[in-house]
Amino acid sequence: MDTQPTASHFIDGAYVEDTTGTPIPVIYAYTGETIATVHAATPGIVEKAIASAKAAQAEWAALSGTERGRILRRAADIMRTRNHDLSVLETFDTGKPLSETIVADATSGADALEYFGGLAATLTGEHIQLGGGDFVYARREALGVCVGIGAWNYPTQIACWKAAPALACGNTMVFKPSETTPLCALKVAEILIEAGAPPGVFNVVQGMGEVGAALTTDPRVAKVSLTGSVPTGQKVYAAAAEGLRHVTMELGGKSPQVVFEDADLDDAVGGAILGNFYSSGQVCSNGTRVFVQRGLVDRFLDRLTERLGNAVMGDPMEMETTFGPMVSARQREIVEGFIAKGIEEGARLVHGGTRPDRDGFFLDPTVFADVTDEMSIARDEIFGPVMSVLTFDTEEEALRRANDTPFGLAASVFTKDLARAHRMAAGFQAGTCYINTHNLSPVEAPFGGMKMSGVGRENSKAAIEHYSQLKGVYVAMTPVEAPF
Ligand code: NDP
Repeated sequence: MDTQPTASHFIDGAYVEDTTGTPIPVIYAYTGETIATVHAATPGIVEKAIASAKAAQAEWAALSGTERGRILRRAADIMRTRNHDLSVLETFDTGKPLSETIVADATSGADALEYFGGLAATLTGEHIQLGGGDFVYARREALGVCVGIGAWNYPTQIACWKAAPALACGNTMVFKPSETTPLCALKVAEILIEAGAPPGVFNVVQGMGEVGAALTTDPRVAKVSLTGSVPTGQKVYAAAAEGLRHVTMELGGKSPQVVFEDADLDDAVGGAILGNFYSSGQVCSNGTRVFVQRGLVDRFLDRLTERLGNAVMGDPMEMETTFGPMVSARQREIVEGFIAKGIEEGARLVHGGTRPDRDGFFLDPTVFADVTDEMSIARDEIFGPVMSVLTFDTEEEALRRANDTPFGLAASVFTKDLARAHRMAAGFQAGTCYINTHNLSPVEAPFGGMKMSGVGRENSKAAIEHYSQLKGVYVAMTPVEAPF
């Protein structure tokens, strides 16, 4: 596959290049080779993208919801038809194994385009009858130009999760992928044009944080939706606040998985594997603090280490491979720093902890036991394949400790006790909770964080509220009564 894109940016329906922008090499995590080079957007490119999105917006919003939805659903169909090639590109961009990308990335992007394509025609305001015959109607209107800024772990999915609801509501978008994974969003832009979206409705510009910052503060921008870390979220939220722009912040987490003694052992272990080692642990909603009730800990760790022995590390393009490299050498170093801290702070390393003897940015799936709440591996987001197992005795204690974190993205409980499962779900301070599973995120369900993990929700009907605004129109049916 030729991984070098036609040009770095996609603006106003076409590829655009400006080689005076800083070159950004795209490195394949399995080989360390440079597979493409793009250039960061210059101020001229940023201007062109925002101007194009601004010019396209009114006409796009003037289409009926049915017409906008048809385009989004057509884009979903094209994505599904091209799933194989898009998945290969996602693997080149991120290093995630093809066995994952073929089921989780373009397919999830297509789901979002299809779902919000379907919703587009159903969007309505409201009629509010008042006394005396007067009434108010509330028009649901687009916000205008939206900016999307993505993290590097799910480049196709993030672009679609932001574009689909934004476009369904009649907004246009300028999207900046992470500099680490700049390739996939360009394909989303190509596909939307092919599906019939007018030029300018979805634009992609490359670059580092400074390009994101330039987009965030442009007076023509009405909303910023960021997927990224908490420190970046704080900066972007503050910058957006200056212009009172709407925001959606999908940020990091340190999510708990609580496993009671009565849980199905294999479901709990499977949930912990999914919630810690999928995408080599580079998932925001990962359940990295696994609280296991005391009587189950030994059996849990035995079964976990046994099943980790089945992980197949290797060429991400081989379908048997189930565990790929980390996205970059830098990210692996960060994670190794946390592993060293875990050992230093006295946690018991029961699996992994080292680099395997092979090329690529691989790191063994790592499990620490005897972790305590104050250790840095139990407090900080690691964003890599590192699981911390903590022990608890009572339900009350588990819930209190699970919530004892500034984050609030996800949480799960594993138990066969129905009442306890729902009590825990109600008690978790997290935006996305699971009973007897972890990390599934279908487009039909709201996804997002409480506390420091974010503001707003992606997916589900809730996303519509974050990409549209209501205008109340008062209609007088009787003569105006003025005091003088
Ligand atoms: P970062 O926060 O480093 O970056 C996120 C994006 O913001 C990147 O595109 C980055 O550009 C850009 N950016 C950086 N600084 C600014 C700025 N001042 N203004 C505007 N944009 C800026 O996150 P990572 O890419 O390292 O992704 C990992 C993080 O993302 C983790 O914390 C993870 O939990 C979180 N995440 C959250 C998800 C969720 O839905 N809640 C899902 C996936 C990840 P560049 O990097 O190119 O410089």
